[in-house]
Amino acid sequence: MKMGLRGRLFFSHLVVMIVGVASLVSISKISSPRLFVLHLEGLENQGFDLIDVRAELVTGFELAWQRSTLWSVLVGTTAAGGLSYWVSRRIMQRLTEMEQITQKFAAGQMDARLPVSDIPELSGLSSSFNRMAASLEGVEARRREVIGDMTHELRTPLTVVRGYLEELADGEIEASPEIYRRLAKETRRLERLVNDLQELSKAEAGYLPINIQRVNLRPLLESLVEKFTDQLLEDGPVLLLQYPSVLPPVLADIDRTEQVLVNLLGNAVRYTNEGSITITVGTEASQLWIAVSDTGIGIAPENLPHVFERFWRADQSRDRHSGGTGIGLTISRRLIELQGGQIQVESELGVGSTFRFFLPLA
Ligand code: ADP
Repeated sequence: MKMGLRGRLFFSHLVVMIVGVASLVSISKISSPRLFVLHLEGLENQGFDLIDVRAELVTGFELAWQRSTLWSVLVGTTAAGGLSYWVSRRIMQRLTEMEQITQKFAAGQMDARLPVSDIPELSGLSSSFNRMAASLEGVEARRREVIGDMTHELRTPLTVVRGYLEELADGEIEASPEIYRRLAKETRRLERLVNDLQELSKAEAGYLPINIQRVNLRPLLESLVEKFTDQLLEDGPVLLLQYPSVLPPVLADIDRTEQVLVNLLGNAVRYTNEGSITITVGTEASQLWIAVSDTGIGIAPENLPHVFERFWRADQSRDRHSGGTGIGLTISRRLIELQGGQIQVESELGVGSTFRFFLPLA
């Protein structure tokens, strides 16, 4: 059988004590009578007459030595044994307590935390466990939140599709190209949602490969303007690009920057019926900023803090209809942060919105 920590601690204390006592007793057993005899000889040399009582004195000394040694060994070992038992129990209590708490945590009680101990090493262990526990608790909370949001988002298109299919099966509605188009639209929505979710989970977990290089953004901006201009309706907003004559290079991942710009421009196009959408570029301190401004519907001040939250949409029903998933800006912010930049929004309801992001200059 393996000996537990408590047994080991106690046993090692015991061994130390036995070695100490044994050496103390054996050394004094050998040396004390000799020293006593030497002392007697010294007294005789000084003129004391001890001839008759010498044997008696030596026996008396030995008896006294034996008794006091016996008592001191008894008292000493009991005190030391008790003390070592107390110390090992104290350490063990802390460790058992820690073990119970970590098991509770593992069993799902995410708010379980280790108490601070008066033993610095154990206290260090407690605080690093508590730090880990807090971070796991956060991850767990986020995981639940995402699953909750996700099921909510997936349920609507699924219900619509199932509804149509059941009605078709029961002959309640006639199959028509229009019905199939609606079914296809809902399935496309599901597909987009799943793709966005995959991208989001990668971005949030930090698995997205980011390839930061020194790049000039001018070609990207020009090609995006061209691409989006083609999408704009005749009577819709116009797309403008304003940048300084010299555009300094930045440290960025060109594909991720494009993804962000596509999202911002896509939103601007979706939420702007007339007026203009302008891309402005400028520099500030050691950063380059790109702003996408529109003259669209704008965002209410109370909603501004939420726009980067996942699944957040200003008008749930309208945007669900228009195909928005509420994930685009969450991914954009993450992508910008992964490139060492930041993104901000300013908006006024009914006037327009400006999304501005910063990237470090090369
Ligand atoms: P979505 O796919 O729904 O557009 P986003 O994360 O990109 O998801 O945007 C979240 C919400 O922020 C949108 O649903 C919309 O309500 C609001 N929003 C984003 N961009 C704009 C904009 N340019 N003008 C007005 N509202 C916007």
